[in-house]
This record gives sequence, structure tokens and C-alpha cells, in this order.
Amino acid sequence: MKYWFKRLINMCVGTASSSHSSNGIQSQRLSDSDTEYTKEIVHFGRLLHLKSFVAATDGNLSVRLDDQRILASPSGVSKGSMQPEDPVMVDNNGVKLAGKRNVSSEIDMHLTIYRLRPDVRAVVHAHPCTATGFASAGIPLDQPLCSEILMTLGSVPLAPYGTTGTPELSQTLVPFIPNYNAILMANHGVVAYGATLSEAYHRMEAVEHFAKIALVTRHLGKQALLDNIQVEKLLKARNRYLNQIGT
Ligand SMILES: [Zn+2]
Repeated sequence: MKYWFKRLINMCVGTASSSHSSNGIQSQRLSDSDTEYTKEIVHFGRLLHLKSFVAATDGNLSVRLDDQRILASPSGVSKGSMQPEDPVMVDNNGVKLAGKRNVSSEIDMHLTIYRLRPDVRAVVHAHPCTATGFASAGIPLDQPLCSEILMTLGSVPLAPYGTTGTPELSQTLVPFIPNYNAILMANHGVVAYGATLSEAYHRMEAVEHFAKIALVTRHLGKQALLDNIQVEKLLKARNRYLNQIGT
């Protein structure tokens, strides 16, 4: 048996025996507006699962409720079958304030994005097959291939690999967070964020869609990239559009 596989088996056994621990803190109650956000997390979690952007209990979503509190999906639950009582409220350090379950083990990534981007109020992390394929092949989605993607997402860089569930994962993202709204995570998946959970989810969807288009051009053996003048015109149009809608 290969070394890495033996280690994996040992770790999985260890995880199973220590799962579902909870500190039992339920000191805060959700307000009516907070409850609306729990419904959003459940809704977009289901979409992530329906679209096969996640499998089993993968992926996580969160919403920044205010300066002090973040509502996030729990660990160990399929995002396709979350219930309104499942999301967990944490503070800016990831300490649980309310909820029956444990918060996602990747909450640190969400907290890092909120710290670096005051404009961001929602984060979605998933493992969509095509985009994660690019991330696992070490290929960023940063080529000017499609006008629509340039208008909406811009470019999607590839962050170096970082171990899940450790601060290393967030640290690899730090240089990219200020300048991008979606990032490929090497050998892992994608994180996307925005002013609302709907925007963050749509950015995740756009990344996977773009990855599929990029893959088709690779199959066809040709990529006719937009030139600098075309890109410049699109970016100007994008700025005009953003100014019109006031973002
Ligand atoms: Zn992940």
C-alpha cells in the first residue's frame, strides 16, 4: 500500500472517532433579518449541490451579518440538505456565538477575506469539477477568451497550494484577495465572494462556466484571445456599467 494512502486511512479513522464535538455555546439568538440569511445559506447551498459544484459534505458559504458577526455553513453536513437551523454564527475570530453544529473547518479562509475586503459581505467556496481540474493542473483562468467573463469576473488567478483546515490555506490567498473576486486554489477548488450571497454564488457559477469554455478551446487546439485594444474597450465598458449601477 502506498505511503500516502496508509496515512489517509489513519487520518480518516481518527477524524471519525472525534467528530461532532460541540462546545455547546448558544448564547446568541438570531434576529428576524439574521433568519433571512440562514434561508439564503440553505438556498445557495442547495444550488451548489444541484449544480455538482460540491460533493458529499464539501464546500462552505458564509454571510457577514455586521461588523462583529458572521453566519456560516456547518461542517459535516451536505450543502444539499442543510436545514435553516444548521448555519452557525461566529465572531471575527471564528469563535462560535450561536448554533448547534460546528462551524466549517475552512472558516478561517472566509474570515481572512472579510478582513481584507470591507466591501465583501458573502463568501462561497466549492470544488466545481472543471475549474478544480484547472486548479489541479496548475492552470489559472486568466486568458482574455470571452468578453462576458472579462466584463463580469475579470481574471481568475491561481493561488498556490495550502493545506485545508490550517492557516496555510488562507495565507496562500492573501496576495490575491484585494484585487480579484474569485480565486482558483491549487489542487483544491475555488473561492468566490461579493456584496451579497447571490453575487458570490453567481461568481462561482461564472468561474465554472468559464472553465468549461476554456477547456473546449483546449480540446479544439486553438485559443483566439482578445487583443489589448479589445480588452481595453471592454474594461472601459465595464467601468461605465459599474458606475451606472452605482457599485
Ligand atoms: Zn474545500
